[in-house]
Amino acid sequence: MKRSFVTFAVCLLCGILVSAPAVQAKSKAKKQPEPAQIKNVIVLIPDGCAPAVLSASRWYQFYQDNSQQKLQIDPYLCGMVKTHSSNAPIGDSAPTSSTYMSGQLSRTKYISMYPEQDPVNDIFPTDPARAFQPLATLLEGSRILQNKATGLVVTCYFPHATPADCAAHYYNRSAYQLLARQIVYNNVDVVIGGGTSYIDEELRGYLKSRGVALYEDDWAGLKSAQGNRIWGLFSPKDMPYDADRDPQLVPSLAEMTTKAIETLSRSKEGFFLMVEGSKVDYAAHANDIFGVVTEFLAFDKAVGVAMDFARKDGQTLVVVVPDHCTGGLSLGKLNSGYDVLPLARLIDPLLGYKHTVAWMKDALNSAPADSIVPILQRASGLPITEADVQRIYHASDYSSSPLERRERTDLALDRVVSEILTAKTYFNFAAHGHVGDDVFLAAYHPAGKLPMGLHTGPELHAYIAEQVGLKDRLAPLTASIFARHQDVFAGLDVEITDDRAGKMVVKSDKHTMEIQGECSYVILDGQRKPLESVIVYVDRNKTFYLPQELRKMM
Ligand SMILES: [Zn+2]
Repeated sequence: MKRSFVTFAVCLLCGILVSAPAVQAKSKAKKQPEPAQIKNVIVLIPDGCAPAVLSASRWYQFYQDNSQQKLQIDPYLCGMVKTHSSNAPIGDSAPTSSTYMSGQLSRTKYISMYPEQDPVNDIFPTDPARAFQPLATLLEGSRILQNKATGLVVTCYFPHATPADCAAHYYNRSAYQLLARQIVYNNVDVVIGGGTSYIDEELRGYLKSRGVALYEDDWAGLKSAQGNRIWGLFSPKDMPYDADRDPQLVPSLAEMTTKAIETLSRSKEGFFLMVEGSKVDYAAHANDIFGVVTEFLAFDKAVGVAMDFARKDGQTLVVVVPDHCTGGLSLGKLNSGYDVLPLARLIDPLLGYKHTVAWMKDALNSAPADSIVPILQRASGLPITEADVQRIYHASDYSSSPLERRERTDLALDRVVSEILTAKTYFNFAAHGHVGDDVFLAAYHPAGKLPMGLHTGPELHAYIAEQVGLKDRLAPLTASIFARHQDVFAGLDVEITDDRAGKMVVKSDKHTMEIQGECSYVILDGQRKPLESVIVYVDRNKTFYLPQELRKMM
């Protein structure tokens, strides 16, 4: 009932769009003002999501309800994006989302940080003098230059690559605790996602000091939270897949997005929000077709939430773009007969699934080997043969296997299970890793200024920056908040007291300043002085990147 209303509403709006020229002509006659400037930005990133995921998800949805011919994203598709890193054509989340957020191509593992030069492989020239410089992001620009509220909503853990790209800086995406510190100290107002294990007592104390209400595994509490600064974390690391979660205890991505928008939209100056459907990528790495489709459809509902808000609000830009493709999904794998394969035979094998392959892996590992068949048949709805059972025995990390460890030479259990199940469908995956296809782009702009055609990552960044009034403003911000300590404190007495954790003492005639990386304060003559931005310490070049204004304080 609700869904058909949404479809009707979308059609109605499409009708309005089609008749837009007539409406515009009228407004010109009445000399109405230009549409209001963009005040809010919502960037939605389905991680590792190839165009084929849309095709599969759309058929899966339609086959179960033929009134649902289109995805929420469909009316807004407008272009494609070429995703890659500074020195390789196939990207990873860290550099590709960095590019969207900072405008700079970077290397694999780099989180919104200027790449070290790779003279042989760099696709475009890079400046070796800038290697390791943190790069101000759209989120930081929105917060520091425009006083906007900021938010991150993810289903992975919050210091994972894509959210970290918005609010942290480092050359190694796996330094999760360090990135978690930076995100906390970067004063993000709303964070909803996984990762309770990354909040320690110090970070908890800092959040509290800023008036942030932190809810840990408490959906009821988060849902009814009224404050403007709320963090809601679920699970020690990533959140459960949408198909595996308990809806009473764990919110959907759409519910998390609704809560974030409800909170951030109270900001008078507007907001920046990044929403990531993080686990489309996880499922695609596992080649789990059911996981891919259900995670994407959960993401698509969040797209619907964002678009509904933007259409009503009239001052919100929405951009939907994956960071790269993962898994190389295809619909069909037949050499002949593909053109008469009925829709039922394509989709029926997915309808018996109740859980993702990740859930099946955990269930298999916590049960004896003789329960392989009932567990997999119940969770997937597909028939499991004796040959399948034998193959699972050989999975390298199947803890209930009756075989000796040296005989377990197959892939990891989740990959073995995925291969077994996907082989019973007409879907196919080309790789367990990322693949270099271009990604789709969708957008909503209240004045219709859409990013049409194919864009590079830096071009898409420039489009967003221009629309939100940050054009040419992030480079000066970078220069101002991420200056090298050698330049800022030239001529002063500087001593790095801990070159691993990043601690430094600077002395002038009048003052002593204690500086620590990954936080947004300094201690000046024993007194804590808060900063607008985080200090980033890079051990590779023994350099602190910090605000130029610190010099004045000395
Ligand atoms: Zn990714």
